[in-house]
Amino acid sequence: MRVYNFGAGPAALPEEVIRNAQQELLEWQDTGMSVLEISHRSSQVKDLFAQVEGKFCSLLSIPENYQLTFHMAPARAQFAMIPMNLLANAQQKADYLVTGIWSKMAADEAKKYAQVNIAASSEDNNHTSLPERNDWQLQADAGYLYYTPNETVNGIAFNTIPEVGDVPLVADMTSYLMAEPFDISRFGLMYAGAQKNIAPAGLTIVIVREDLINNIQAITPKVFDYALLDEQNSLYYTPNVFAVYMAGLMCDWLERQGGLAAIAEVNHRKANKLYDYIDQEDFYRNQIKPSDRSFINVVFQLADDKLNDEFIAQAKSTANLVSLKGHRFVGGMRASIYNAMPEEGVDALIDFMRQFVKQHG
Ligand SMILES: *Cc1c(COP(=O)(O)O)cnc(C)c1O
Repeated sequence: MRVYNFGAGPAALPEEVIRNAQQELLEWQDTGMSVLEISHRSSQVKDLFAQVEGKFCSLLSIPENYQLTFHMAPARAQFAMIPMNLLANAQQKADYLVTGIWSKMAADEAKKYAQVNIAASSEDNNHTSLPERNDWQLQADAGYLYYTPNETVNGIAFNTIPEVGDVPLVADMTSYLMAEPFDISRFGLMYAGAQKNIAPAGLTIVIVREDLINNIQAITPKVFDYALLDEQNSLYYTPNVFAVYMAGLMCDWLERQGGLAAIAEVNHRKANKLYDYIDQEDFYRNQIKPSDRSFINVVFQLADDKLNDEFIAQAKSTANLVSLKGHRFVGGMRASIYNAMPEEGVDALIDFMRQFVKQHG
């Protein structure tokens, strides 16, 4: 029996998508072999990569002057790859907004490859509200402004794209990409590790405006070179073909749900329900400023921390709800409600939370 998996990543995939993969796992496309075994130099894999790229371009309405590449390094490899590819050398400047643990790690890593300026930070308030736009210290000559639209661990999010003039906006969309439609042309570069909202782990998708990557740092390893990877259609080295294949099945599933606008409606409804319940019940609380709350990773605390273990154990044993434990940096609970989490899963969580209050409130 499948559970409702609220894990932040690797995260749940729709059962239908897993069944699609299961059906053609032994033999894929009349090749007489599995997609797990086939050569990345075969015409079938070349076609697969082109098709999956096309599916992303269509779902996200990616403009012509952007390239999309599939990388097999973890999402956090981009912390270094971005300054390496966007800045000519380590003396160039870059602005960073620190609003949670992922943007903090990105800024720290980038210091090896750029002059990093922390333009604003919410560390002072423990990442419970975003720094006011008027207080950001942006540099006119920064190569880019980096931020993390949705901080997966802290549950804090930019719910609109910041206005920053001409400086290219670079975004870690690991837990956000494909959750709702947005205007790609507002960004210079965006990327997402697949294991949150797209596919199994082992794949990172990078979308970058082509004019930004002709100034690569000399130290950049070839496997990190966006332009080279694009020239080779993401087949420069031996890729995780299965993860790209799964991303394609996920895109097909999204199309069947009605595309990003339709899934976004469900996603926002799920989050609103959960926050409404948390806000009306004294037993639970969320400390993020309401306008800065994530609609994807809902963090909440119980009135009494000593009940955490019992909450987690009972959620599993009585309601089949798993992976609700918050990140060790934040504590409490976290419900990650990506595309694959059906609305019934959120309803089941709220029902369970109500039951738990009756017993312990
Ligand atoms: C999970 C996550 C990462 C790190 O992913 P890895 O593939 O483990 O490196 C980076 N940024 C955000 C926003 C994440 O949610």
